[in-house]
Amino acid sequence: MTEKIRLYGDEILRKLAKPISTIDDDIKRKAKKLVEYLERYDELALSAPQVGYSIRMFVMRPIWIEDIKKRKTMIFINPTLLEFEGIQNESEGCLSIPEIFEKVKRAQKVIFRAQNLFGKWKQYTAKDLFSRAVQHEYDHLDGILFIDKILPFRRRLLQGKLKKIASTTEDGVNIG
Ligand SMILES: [Zn+2]
Repeated sequence: MTEKIRLYGDEILRKLAKPISTIDDDIKRKAKKLVEYLERYDELALSAPQVGYSIRMFVMRPIWIEDIKKRKTMIFINPTLLEFEGIQNESEGCLSIPEIFEKVKRAQKVIFRAQNLFGKWKQYTAKDLFSRAVQHEYDHLDGILFIDKILPFRRRLLQGKLKKIASTTEDGVNIG
């Protein structure tokens, strides 16, 4: 793999990712890569900017589905969040900000639309963990990280750790 997981401090994580106009071979290749990373890191979800593609796509493993055979990795292209309902306040982490876990307030339920790899639009209703993961990944496409959403005093406490992560980013450490 040539791409690596981009860490906090990397500019791509702060960029507004571009909409995908055509789902061509290049986009399909990038989607495949993203899924590979997701499985390699055994993660719940991963957004394209985290592996260096500034495009509006994220992937997710539906671990809330009990039947493992039905847990097919989902690819969401050009997602749009339509409706929010309720509040949840759970601990979150991010592959791009290793070893930091903080409580983040998110909507309990989110209704969103996205295209699949065939370009077909579908509407989803996500609750609980699914909802939180969608909101976390969607934020990545807008250059927002979960630490932007925690209480300011918590963020201040994390300054040292964050600086350390950012300094390894400058050195180009490949955690993959
Ligand atoms: Zn993340």
